[in-house]
Amino acid sequence: MAKILMLGCDAIAQGAIEAGISYASSYPGTPATQILEYIAKNSNVAAEWSVNEKVAYEVAYGVSLTGRRALCSMKHVGLNVASDPFMTSAYLGVRGGLVLAVGDDPGAYSSQNEQDSRFYASFAKIPCFEPSDAQEAKDMTYLAFDISEELALPVMVRSITRLLHCYAPVSLGNINPEKEIKLEKNPDYLIAVPKNVIRLHRELNKKQEKIKQFIEKYEFNKIFPGKEKRGIIACGITYLYARELEESLPILKISAYPVDENLIKDFVTALDEVIVLEEGYPFIENIARKYSSNIRGKLSGDLPLEGELGPEPLFRIFGRIKSSDSENGVIPRPPMLCPGCPHREFYKALNEAKPIFVTGDIGCYTLGANPPLRAIDTCLCMGASISKAAGIASQGVKGVVAVIGDSTFIHSGIPALINAVYNKLNILVCILDNSAVAMTGHQPTPIIGITAKGKETKKLDLAELCKACGADSVEVVDPYDKKTTYEAIKRGLDNPGVNVIIARRACVLLAKKLKS
Ligand code: SF4
Repeated sequence: MAKILMLGCDAIAQGAIEAGISYASSYPGTPATQILEYIAKNSNVAAEWSVNEKVAYEVAYGVSLTGRRALCSMKHVGLNVASDPFMTSAYLGVRGGLVLAVGDDPGAYSSQNEQDSRFYASFAKIPCFEPSDAQEAKDMTYLAFDISEELALPVMVRSITRLLHCYAPVSLGNINPEKEIKLEKNPDYLIAVPKNVIRLHRELNKKQEKIKQFIEKYEFNKIFPGKEKRGIIACGITYLYARELEESLPILKISAYPVDENLIKDFVTALDEVIVLEEGYPFIENIARKYSSNIRGKLSGDLPLEGELGPEPLFRIFGRIKSSDSENGVIPRPPMLCPGCPHREFYKALNEAKPIFVTGDIGCYTLGANPPLRAIDTCLCMGASISKAAGIASQGVKGVVAVIGDSTFIHSGIPALINAVYNKLNILVCILDNSAVAMTGHQPTPIIGITAKGKETKKLDLAELCKACGADSVEVVDPYDKKTTYEAIKRGLDNPGVNVIIARRACVLLAKKLKS
């Protein structure tokens, strides 16, 4: 079959489509956003933008209960949000194949941390695949559904930004038909209550040997022999780096977890020195160090513990170039608010109102922290702005403002708003409603009333929602109208209680897109 160029994201999506999935769910988040976008645009598979990753995972799990296959995709920090259902779903097991595609972001190109999802897979005791290129991403995703059903476990496909956002040749396959619906009641296996938990955990533990057998059977982890007494353990995409840099060295390629430790032991004890290449934390290096003291990697200080494995550290560890030779890199250019961005106008009004402390959130508006605006004092994670503001206000600090986007508010800001009202705190909550998840490419939100498939649906009324949460006042302003916006902010700061301002104006890029 002919090969076509595909993004890593698209390849994962295509693998799921070919596996005969019946549903895909996700919340937008770089670098994994395009997985759902590809499915929504290029297949008949039903697909949804969920309101957050927890909901996305639970919806996918629900599909699995019907005996049908579902793909759930998210960025690495999204898995923190989804971790509650994710962890327990391994105990309950799945019916139809359930694959969780997670996009890690070493280098934090568009993220608040560099966490490594392999630890989550290990924590939940489920199999995890880590492809090295787009073809493997497609093939492994396809196979992950079979393995998920064989083991009755969710399976993780962990990739990183570099793979997900790069084009590579991929051959397409045939699309399998959907599975028949087979929804069965089975309380001993489907209800996670204490009387079932120990037994379910025991069964999960028993599956560990079977997982290892599958990984062995498909030879996901294998040794490519070489002539030298120096070798490389290469995980995921780093296999390509290893091949490009040191073609003749023996390589242990790691593509699936948990890894048989004997394989690592045999490899490292047969060699004088082994370099461990892995994006993320030193997950495999920690194991390799148990069996040899001649391991070089992140823990030995030969590779950085932070950031992505770019050319400079790789060249350095293989003795190709002195670090000083490669210092003339590109000058970093942090992202900026676009010209005409409504957030900028809002921040100008906010700065004039002189709040004491501004808690920010995740989205385009986080860029308001940059000079010259410097309008945000803290940013932690999705939905945290309102709760952080509440925490500060609980200590008697006045003039605290939370700034949050419309999609982030729906994602995880609503409980925090209810919490602030319930606990009688004095904060001003500013919801910057730009009519899209702009940062990740203008995905629709429930406020717009358009689904991932481009169909019309019910619109969520943000102002009514805030009133229903008990906000003491709710004002809707246009941030381009600076005077009105400033006055609303002043009122919100001066009046006690939880006051909400919705600064509503569509992202200028979206407005342009819609016009064209
Ligand atoms: S994409 Fe839209 S919301 Fe984001 S910075 Fe640009 S104009 Fe502002």
